[in-house]
Amino acid sequence: MNPTVQALEAQLRQTQTIPEKFVLLDRLYRFLSLSYPQQARQIVEEMLILSQKAAYPAGRGLALKNLGDYHLRQGHLPAAQGCLEEARAILRKVGETAAEIEAQNALGSFYYLQGQFPKALEYYLEALEESRKYGFKLQESSALHGIGLVQHTLGNYPEATKYLLRSLALKRESGDRPSESDVLNDLGLIYLEVGDHAGAAELFRESLSIKQALGDHHGEASALSSLGLTFYRLGRIQEALHYHRQALEMADSLGSLQIKALCLENQGLCQARLGHLEQALELFQAAMALYQELHSRPGELRVLLQVGLAQSRLEQSENAIHSLQQGLSRAEKLGLQKALFEFHQALSQVFEQTHKPALALHHLKQALEIERKLQQEQQTQRTAALLAGFQVEKARQEAEIERLRNIELARANRELAQAIENLKEADAEKTRLLEMLRRQSKELERLARQDPLTRLYNRRYLEENLEREFAASKRYGFPLSVAMVDIDHFKQINDTFSHQVGDDVLRLVGQILESSCRGVDFAARYGGEEFVLVFPQTDLTGALIACERLRQRIENHRWGDLHPQLRVTVSIGVCSDPDLPNHEKLLAAADAQLYAAKQAGRNRVYPQAHNLVGGP
Ligand code: GH3
Ligand code: MG
Ligand code: MG
Repeated sequence: MNPTVQALEAQLRQTQTIPEKFVLLDRLYRFLSLSYPQQARQIVEEMLILSQKAAYPAGRGLALKNLGDYHLRQGHLPAAQGCLEEARAILRKVGETAAEIEAQNALGSFYYLQGQFPKALEYYLEALEESRKYGFKLQESSALHGIGLVQHTLGNYPEATKYLLRSLALKRESGDRPSESDVLNDLGLIYLEVGDHAGAAELFRESLSIKQALGDHHGEASALSSLGLTFYRLGRIQEALHYHRQALEMADSLGSLQIKALCLENQGLCQARLGHLEQALELFQAAMALYQELHSRPGELRVLLQVGLAQSRLEQSENAIHSLQQGLSRAEKLGLQKALFEFHQALSQVFEQTHKPALALHHLKQALEIERKLQQEQQTQRTAALLAGFQVEKARQEAEIERLRNIELARANRELAQAIENLKEADAEKTRLLEMLRRQSKELERLARQDPLTRLYNRRYLEENLEREFAASKRYGFPLSVAMVDIDHFKQINDTFSHQVGDDVLRLVGQILESSCRGVDFAARYGGEEFVLVFPQTDLTGALIACERLRQRIENHRWGDLHPQLRVTVSIGVCSDPDLPNHEKLLAAADAQLYAAKQAGRNRVYPQAHNLVGGP
């Protein structure tokens, strides 16, 4: 058994789920259908039974699709149609779109084989559209292949070539070698039609080598037969016969009646061309028997015509007329115009040979009439096919434009989103920088107005604010008091206990001043060991009370914590004269009071309020 088949069967034994089993069975059928029709048929049976047992409708759909394909390959056209229609309906219902499109394509092949070309085209075009919509490359290339075949048959060769080349590209892209070689073969047939025999032979050889590599004997036989046809057309009959014989051997071993019949027919043509008419007749008769078995009407009619022509050349006029009339009536029944034309033409020739001019004329007239009709019909069909192709092309181009536009739009959106993101980032960065600047400037501001040792306001801040307070008090007639505070014998503290202790004393005095202030009051370090207190909206009495309380707090502070022998006192001079010209004079007046306090013995507030108890 073939290694591919073995591998698939091994996988099949390991799979558990029904859908997976069907995927493998489907693949197995596809492979077997190329060369082993009997085994392929068995797989279809298995699929039918399994789908019923497992109550799996999708499986039945797949089975029927393959059964339809099998019948198509065997030439059982009516049976094929029934299966394919049912398969398509089931697959559509269960949403197996890819397989549904395959059934659709197979129905296209059915109509094509029936000679209903517009109908075939309709099916292929729909399959093409659907497969493109869902991005099913395999199905798309099959549809393109089908359209190419129809266009070929209708004589639209450039159009056919275009579709087949596109199909070929897709098959190559998706690595579908068996179908690739089929398309090569069909392209070769077009080359043959337009008289490019060398080109055709090259394509057939390429197709043949793929078939051989794949072990696809069915395809190999077809390719050999096509090569035979090429040499026949070239008039190289011996070579043609060589290929046809090889093809026949292959078909024999495969048991493919279809190909066998074709090979016999082709060999008959070769022998007839060589003038071996008896031999040709034998071959035609054998082919005829097979076509009858296959119910292949076109095959039967083709062979009947050749039989008649051979008999006529053998001067068996009676037999010839009999064969040709038999063919004529069958063609009439089937409505096959092309065959009718050929039979009338052949009959006209035979009657001419046998000197029956009236009958000869009758058939000639008939032939011409049909030919005219055929040409008209073919022209219409060709035009229709070209138009249909054109419309699909237009739709494809529009879809492509739409796709490109969407890509462009998506790109623009992405860029916009990126730009917004960048802006946001820049914004965040800006906010961060601004915040930093704000904090830095606040810090600078704080540093500009703060004394670093005591953390009280510095002298600059004091001057600015006192000036403002003084102006306001003057304007609105509010009282304003200032106090100048100086630590007593501070030099001595430094000298006795160290500069370090001196600094600590400055810090602590600062804290006491700060914590003794009301909300509106403020304390500042004026210089060295001198401080200024500002009491807005406070008259001299209020200020003196506050200062006396402060003096006591400093005197009573537990200075021993800093150093056992340490004692700290302050002297304070207060001033609250609203008639002074400016704040500098106010400070100077407070300083004068301080000087007086020092002179009076320190650790006291000046001027001494008479209603307050003074210093020690
Ligand atoms: P008085 O009672 O007359 O005010 O005597 P005093 O010793 O306090 O007077 P004086 O103004 O002569 O001395 C002030 C001393 O304060 C002199 C200076 O060394 C000291 N001083 C000034 N600034 C600082 C400082 O930031 N830290 C320390 N530890 N000492 C300072
Ligand atoms: Mg001093
Ligand atoms: Mg002092």
